[in-house]
Amino acid sequence: MRIALLGYGKMGKMIERIARERGHEIVLIVDENNRANVTSDQLKKAEVAIEFTMPAVAVANYKWCFDNGVPVVSGTTGWLEQWDEVMTYCQEKKGGFFYASNFSIGVNIFFQLNKYLARMMNGFNEYKVFIEETHHIHKLDAPSGTAITIAEGILGNHDGYHSWQLDQGKQLPEGVLPVAAKRIGEVPGIHAVTYKSEADEIEIRHSAVSREGFARGALLAAEFLKGKTGVFGMEDMLSLEKK
Ligand code: NAD
Repeated sequence: MRIALLGYGKMGKMIERIARERGHEIVLIVDENNRANVTSDQLKKAEVAIEFTMPAVAVANYKWCFDNGVPVVSGTTGWLEQWDEVMTYCQEKKGGFFYASNFSIGVNIFFQLNKYLARMMNGFNEYKVFIEETHHIHKLDAPSGTAITIAEGILGNHDGYHSWQLDQGKQLPEGVLPVAAKRIGEVPGIHAVTYKSEADEIEIRHSAVSREGFARGALLAAEFLKGKTGVFGMEDMLSLEKK
C-alpha cells in the first residue's frame, strides 16, 4: 500500500518503521518544515494518508486529504470540537476518514470493559466514579482524548452522571464526573477508572508499555480504510459494540 505520512514526530517515525516492515511503501512524508512546499499531486500518489500531527493543524490536513480523494487515518487528539465540521466536509467531498483517540487494541477492549462496568454499577449510588490519566510531559492536550472517550462511555451507560469535567482539585457538583490529568516524565499513557465507596474500591486500569501498539493499530486501520469512503472507528475494524 502507498502511504503518505502527515506528521513525522514520535508517532510518524514509528509508523514509518512498522509500515516498511509490513511491506508498505511510504510515498510522502510531511511535517511542519516542508508542509508549505508539498503539492496536492504529491499527496495524490498515496492510497491512504496517516495523520499524527497537532490539534491546531489536523483539521486542515483532513480537508486537504478529502479535497484530493485520499482517505485519511488520524490519531491526532485535541480537535474534537470541530468534529461536526469535519464530518460535513468529509460527506461533501465523499471522503474516507478513520479516527481513533487511541489505536491500541488493548485500550479499545478497555473501552468496552469500561462501558460494561458502568452498566453494572448503575444504581449503586454509594459508589462514586473518577477517571485518572497519566502521560508524558510533552503532551499538549488535557485530559487525553482516550480519557474523554472513557468518560463518554460512562456517561452513556450510567444514569448517575450527565457530564465530565477536568478535575482541578475543586469539589464538583453531583452528576459531574471528575477526570484528573497528570503529566510525568516519559509515561506513554495510563488510564484508570475507579468506583469508590466508604467500604471498598473497584478499579480498572490500562497501561501502555510503548507507543508501538498505537502505531500498529493505525496501520491496521490504514489497511482497513484503503479504497473506502465514509467514516470509521475502531469499533468497525474490531467488530465491537458502538453504544
Ligand atoms: P510529535 O510532537 O512528536 O509530532 C508532531 C508532528 O507533527 C511533528 O513532526 C511536526 O513537525 C508535525 N506537524 C506540525 N504541523 C504540521 C502540519 N501542518 N502538517 C504536517 N505535519 C505537521 O507528536 P506525536 O507524539 O507523534 O503525536 C502526534 C499526535 O498524535 C498528538 O495529538 C498525540 O496526542 C496523538 N497521539 C494519538 C495516539 C492514538 O492512538 N490516537 C497515540 C499517540 C499520540
